[in-house]
Amino acid sequence: MPTIRDVDRVFLQAVLSRGVLSGALAKVLWEKSVEVVNAADEGLDIEFVNNDDAWNVFTTRINNTLDKLDLEFRLVHDELSGRDMYALVNTKGDEVAQLATDYTPIEIAFFKAIVEQIMLASREAYSVSSLAALRELTFAKINMTKSHGEIVLASFVSKGWLMKSIRGRYSLSTRSLLELQPYLKSNYSEELRECTLCMEILTRGIACPTANCNTRLHFHCFKNYRQRQGRKNCPSCQNEWPREIKDLVPVGEEAARDGDEKRRVRVRSAGVSDDEEEAPEDSPPRKSSQRKGKGKPRRKAEADDEDEDEEEEEEESQMQTQPSHPSQTQKRRSSRR
Ligand SMILES: [Zn+2]
Ligand SMILES: [Zn+2]
Repeated sequence: MPTIRDVDRVFLQAVLSRGVLSGALAKVLWEKSVEVVNAADEGLDIEFVNNDDAWNVFTTRINNTLDKLDLEFRLVHDELSGRDMYALVNTKGDEVAQLATDYTPIEIAFFKAIVEQIMLASREAYSVSSLAALRELTFAKINMTKSHGEIVLASFVSKGWLMKSIRGRYSLSTRSLLELQPYLKSNYSEELRECTLCMEILTRGIACPTANCNTRLHFHCFKNYRQRQGRKNCPSCQNEWPREIKDLVPVGEEAARDGDEKRRVRVRSAGVSDDEEEAPEDSPPRKSSQRKGKGKPRRKAEADDEDEDEEEEEEESQMQTQPSHPSQTQKRRSSRR
């Protein structure tokens, strides 16, 4: 005999077949699930109310069930439109297992190498050019031809794992930000930023121009803050912000500049890194603390130390026109809840 739990089951099946879906569609599926279950038994009359409270009760009930399976029906706001997006996500897996059914291990290695370049991009650009993405085939020693690499890249875009911009740069999609969050958090905790207002992951938006201020806002959060709330000052440092959004510091593709194509490699702790060959053997990994006080302690390590001076000079000169980014310590403090 059908029960209210069948609504949950029917709904989850519908969600699973869709991957990432908008909040509006999720609510339509919820209503349809109630209809389907009610229709299965004349004696059954499960009430359907479409309001936020009822939706919260429904999603909480679903998540209580999913929790035992380390799954979650999770909400994230699309970084470009601000729309509600949902997906069923694995809360535990800190691997990109979600790609395993569609891609070979070599293709997944290519995906991870691209994600690494996106996460380590200079100036919080969180994106990589097509050229640099394909270059990873060589640098990351991935046994794949360039033409196959191009096909796989297009597939990452068509399946919604990566976004490709008009400029030809790849960045993380809403799907990746939702489904690969545990992987991103466990591998790139130092590079990951969160929005000061909504606390969700931020890879596109704006940064406060004040040196050492940690504030990052999504575009939609910024709009809401400025237009609806009429606030002109930074929510953290309280300095007055420029009138135009373009005068704030961009985060995401807008932050990328020509000549930013230098490859960056994370020096990981001993034993697990496939990047070790790139780092000179006799130089120990640079710790983030060594960069403290330099005003730009964003990266743990650059691709090769030979060009380091050049890189730092470049960075110094940029500091005059662009604010420095917060120190690791500040960031860690702010990321704690
Ligand atoms: Zn936000
Ligand atoms: Zn600020």
